[in-house]
Amino acid sequence: MKHKTLTRQKWENQLRALWPALKGSLAKVAKPCIRKNCPACACGDKHPAWILSFTLRGKRKTMYVPLPLVVSLKKGLQNGRKVETILYQTGPDLLKQHRQTVKKKRKHPTKS
Ligand SMILES: [Zn+2]
Repeated sequence: MKHKTLTRQKWENQLRALWPALKGSLAKVAKPCIRKNCPACACGDKHPAWILSFTLRGKRKTMYVPLPLVVSLKKGLQNGRKVETILYQTGPDLLKQHRQTVKKKRKHPTKS
């Protein structure tokens, strides 16, 4: 098996540490309920709920987010941005690594 390059190892470690990573937007909304004479709805406070909006295969979708998952999803959104930064960095890293490999081969032409 071929040795993993340092670039690839670094990439794998960074991505592994960024679970969960996701894209979309999390928003807190206030929804009215169906109960009659609900004090929360009557005073305008309504009922807070979290929703996740995202685009899946070109279609805009939203899903209700239960409260215990809000913290995980917030973390996931932060991680999603970090993953994006890593992906943008991977191109330049690969090119730099290739240049260094070419240089090394020129310095030691007998080694293949
Ligand atoms: Zn209500």
